[in-house]
Amino acid sequence: MASGAETGVVMPDAGLRFWAAAPSPNRGGTCRVPGDVRGLVIHSVEGTMASAISTFARIGGPSAHYGIDTDGTVVAFVPEGDVAFHVAAFGSRPSLNRNHPQWLPAYDGRWSAVNACTVGIELAGFAGRSFTAAQYASLGALCAGIATRWGFVPDASRVVSHASLQSDRFDPGDAFDWDTLFAAIEASRPKALVMTDGDREVLEVVRGLGADAAGVRGWIEKLGAYEAQQ
Ligand SMILES: [Zn+2]
Repeated sequence: MASGAETGVVMPDAGLRFWAAAPSPNRGGTCRVPGDVRGLVIHSVEGTMASAISTFARIGGPSAHYGIDTDGTVVAFVPEGDVAFHVAAFGSRPSLNRNHPQWLPAYDGRWSAVNACTVGIELAGFAGRSFTAAQYASLGALCAGIATRWGFVPDASRVVSHASLQSDRFDPGDAFDWDTLFAAIEASRPKALVMTDGDREVLEVVRGLGADAAGVRGWIEKLGAYEAQQ
């Protein structure tokens, strides 16, 4: 993962007012590298954040990377570099929705492939009920930060509902306001470096030459890639 510290870029979620950690044991051992994470899946807990913390702490259960409480607090459960069990985590055999995003790997019946290329975020609350302004603000900054770290554009093709993937799930529900979310993401993104595949190659080359962070930024700026994309 390209960290903000390495590139000198301030991540759009760095300013979130409160982070809490509640490490979940339910995670894959894989260490993901740039390119592995291709999308974000939004869930609702169907309960309080306290209930999610308790569920995700139980060994053998589901998990997600992050939760966002009603006051906007971001709870970190699983590091982004690890796989969390947030889609089809209960051993059920749902089907993958036919109009699933194109960036998903070829689906061969193993949901682990879906979890392997996504970051899962759980909102405290219930599908069908509304979420708070503080949740949308934190979620927008978090999505912008994740997309920046993993090098993809956080648009509607990459930030999707759990319901859009898994046939027997409905979260985060019809009351979830996607326009508000994408406005919150947009508000955060201009502060971020959006990396393309080309940028990443440049970073690798420059790192290989032993350049410092300022040098790396100089290279990227020269190539016109230091931008608030669209
Ligand atoms: Zn879900």
